[in-house]
Amino acid sequence: MKLYSTKNKQNIANLSKAVLKGLPDDNGLFMPEVIPQLPEEFINNLKDYSFQEIALKVCSTIFQGAIPESDLKEIVYEAINFPAPLVQLDEQKYILELFHGPSLAFKDFGARFMARLMSYFNQGNDKELVILVATSGDTGGAVAAGFYKTPGIKVVILYPSGKVSHLQEKQLTTLGHNITALEVKGTFDDCQALVKKAFLDNELTSNIRLTSANSINIARLIPQSFYYFEAYKQLENPSNAVFCIPSGNFGNLTAGLFASKMRLPIHKFIAATNANNVVPEYLENGNYSPRPSTRTISNAMDVGNPSNFARMEDLYGFTWNNMKKDIVGYSYNDIETEQGMKEVMEHYNYVIDPHGAVGYNALKEYQRENKGTKGIILETAHPSKFLPDVKRILGKEPNIPERLAKLANEPKESLLTENNYTLFKQWLLDNY
Ligand SMILES: *Cc1c(COP(=O)(O)O)cnc(C)c1O
Repeated sequence: MKLYSTKNKQNIANLSKAVLKGLPDDNGLFMPEVIPQLPEEFINNLKDYSFQEIALKVCSTIFQGAIPESDLKEIVYEAINFPAPLVQLDEQKYILELFHGPSLAFKDFGARFMARLMSYFNQGNDKELVILVATSGDTGGAVAAGFYKTPGIKVVILYPSGKVSHLQEKQLTTLGHNITALEVKGTFDDCQALVKKAFLDNELTSNIRLTSANSINIARLIPQSFYYFEAYKQLENPSNAVFCIPSGNFGNLTAGLFASKMRLPIHKFIAATNANNVVPEYLENGNYSPRPSTRTISNAMDVGNPSNFARMEDLYGFTWNNMKKDIVGYSYNDIETEQGMKEVMEHYNYVIDPHGAVGYNALKEYQRENKGTKGIILETAHPSKFLPDVKRILGKEPNIPERLAKLANEPKESLLTENNYTLFKQWLLDNY
């Protein structure tokens, strides 16, 4: 398997290099040179396969022999060890629950897979690998859980102080061992900027083996395509399937585009955002204008400059008209999001989290004009991760899964830091 940079198609890497480096030197993003199609027969008979079997088939098709099948099977089966059930709301609407992993967000799929793949490619290297990751909430928890105690790998998580939920923060700051949490006095965009700058800093990268774990790493993206197949498999009558994706950095949606390229018959993608609506705006009028993020109750989607947009553009040959044939965008403010949560509770007796509710609103609006479609909302996190908001809005507490509840009493350990690159760099040099 070969991958190129979105900034320069001549800049080629193999899978091992792309996974361990995260980003190409030219600051583009790695893209598979070929995204092969799956056999039609496989798509038509998805029901005959387990989720793990589907995941392995999809993965080995993309990887094209980059990893021996028996090793790949071990990686995939260990990473994808929890289900992705489809829950029906009504004739037209379904919810794909992606929160059954250890950190209760869909990011567990990517993080668990990436941890195993990196560790596989890192074998035989005596210098430790340091993973830098900026998080607006859920990435950090998934990465921390995914990499916890992985030999030869240390993780530094940067998160914006006071801007992630209490339990999310606990997920980042209570594990210890090879996981360190930096609490940055700034926004998510500031955290992401610090990380990006570090990767481009030659003095740092020549001293420390740095890599990323954000959705910019191709190893996070690929496993996110697995559950599009798994969802489709569970649809009773899958014609006109549309996927509605609550989006921030657009990794999840990009993974869906991969699935579609591999022949999964997806009728439409719905890009659902909160007030941070640069992509819906682009789909509407062709102007892409990234800007600082705004804070919302769906905080894992508070992204003003989505990193995977470069991949989306690349997939559509940088042509607005092409992208807009496949993807339609909608955005909602917090009041509308709260309304969506209440409606899902009242109509379907289902507790949806604020991110999923943005998706619900978008699907509802889309289906008003597109009857006869089967819509799948990606429920990206368990509602209990956003306890205070969910309680306030729905007037009742969602059930809290045991693996989250037990964190509440664990002591938080983080390093409070200024939003200052020079200090950050020095800290890295001193500690790794
Ligand atoms: C990360 C996250 C998103 C956004 O996903 P992207 O792949 O960055 O678009 C949405 N919802 C939740 C709960 C998340 O954690």
